[in-house]
Amino acid sequence: MSLLYRSTRDLKANTIPASEAILKGLSSDGGLYVPTSIPKIDFDLSELLDFSYQELAFRVLRLFYTDFSESELRKCIENAYGDNFDTSLIAPLSFHDNNGYLELFHGPTIAFKDIALQLLPHLMTTAAKKNKLQKEIVILTATSGDTGKAAMDGFADVEGTKIIVFYPKDGVSFIQEQQMLTQKGKNTFIYAVDGNFDVAQTNVKRILNNDKLSQKLANDNYQFSSANSINIGRLFPQVVYYFYAYSQMVKQQKISLGSAINFSVPTGNFGDILAGYYAQKMGLPINKLLCASNKNNVLTEFFNEGIYDKNRPFYVTSSPSMDILVSSNLERLLFYINNEDVQATIDLMTQLSNNGKYSISSEIKDSLSDFFAAFADEEQTANEISRIYKIDGSIIDPHTAVASYVARLYKEKYPDSTIPTVIVSTASPYKFPQSVLIGLHDSAAFETGFTALQALKNKSHVEFPSAIEQLLSKHNKRAKKVISSSDMKKAVEKILFTK
Ligand SMILES: *Cc1c(COP(=O)(O)O)cnc(C)c1O
Repeated sequence: MSLLYRSTRDLKANTIPASEAILKGLSSDGGLYVPTSIPKIDFDLSELLDFSYQELAFRVLRLFYTDFSESELRKCIENAYGDNFDTSLIAPLSFHDNNGYLELFHGPTIAFKDIALQLLPHLMTTAAKKNKLQKEIVILTATSGDTGKAAMDGFADVEGTKIIVFYPKDGVSFIQEQQMLTQKGKNTFIYAVDGNFDVAQTNVKRILNNDKLSQKLANDNYQFSSANSINIGRLFPQVVYYFYAYSQMVKQQKISLGSAINFSVPTGNFGDILAGYYAQKMGLPINKLLCASNKNNVLTEFFNEGIYDKNRPFYVTSSPSMDILVSSNLERLLFYINNEDVQATIDLMTQLSNNGKYSISSEIKDSLSDFFAAFADEEQTANEISRIYKIDGSIIDPHTAVASYVARLYKEKYPDSTIPTVIVSTASPYKFPQSVLIGLHDSAAFETGFTALQALKNKSHVEFPSAIEQLLSKHNKRAKKVISSSDMKKAVEKILFTK
């Protein structure tokens, strides 16, 4: 059975196959690609228990990428999930304070973005071959810190691709910036932008949808694509670990097969949690998806009040990858809760771009009952890190701490519920040593990044992952290039058209 994709903003509902949607990234009408229907899993939940991560990835992704052959898809998966992860489980589940923590930070850049971005380049080059694309693919990406590094790592020296990354100049952690500035690969380019993530993301979308520029690119044998979670090649690999978490919960006898669990997801651009929503619609027994925000709590208000309002102060927090006021992937959810009504989706998105604000009717808000939304401020995040440390000596990163805190709020609200919660752990604490040490009241929090790393190691007794070892041994650092957000297009043109 073949599954096709359409744009959330296309009233004519034109469709294209998965490989084409992966190559394009964003639809030219500004909308996001969604499958014409959400596939149901075609295996029994009990079979899950026998699947390796790779086998499960194949079983899930073949339902979405139906124009890839079995051997193509298996090869992509095999190349993506191997020795580049520091555990053969890829996404192990640990337990602290009776909750599961799904550890998604065992890849090369120690954040959950690796799960999708180690696979995306393989999907994209396979899709290019399939579509007989002779053009070089130019990946444009805005990053709140983790996507940039993970995308560059995935695409570094991949033939037929170039990748250009923009990050907010004061909006990423010291380690995140060091990781990006030490990236190898002649086809990788990186700029710090004078503005926050939303500014960078809006401009990237504008550049991607600039017809004149696209034409100029085509004449020079280039084609744009995106590595942000707006790309279906990035979104659906994230569905896999929801199933994998469930299978580990059963195997570790935390639940019986078929009973429901909750997931608490630290949320920014709404890609990760949307993948959970797809997993649920595909047939995974998920009770609630807990949408956990930091102080930039625009989504908390949306779920609780039915109002999305980005006209509010923007905070730089200890969980920078969630410092986002315009969550791109929410557009896909809006499309679904409006019963796939394209005009309604366009209207909301037009209000957002004109007024920075929209609201949904109370009937539509009722269909959001699969979600619970709350946030943790900076102090609550820091306290959660120290609370877990006091319980069993393990250290979680600030993003994970936000989700961990929200899981507690949920439990307080529903004290009688016996449904277990899995907290999606999105980054290694070594990526944010200073913020973590603040939570642990360690004076090294005020030292430079590298001293803080050592202090964190002394506390956690966890070896440095290879991403950190590499950072400590790297000397070939690039100079930080800061540009104004209005010069992003110029920067792209300079890279592509300077001969
Ligand atoms: C990107 C990121 C998030 C947020 O994920 P979204 O898909 O953007 O909602 C949370 N935590 C970490 C560590 C991240 O890198």
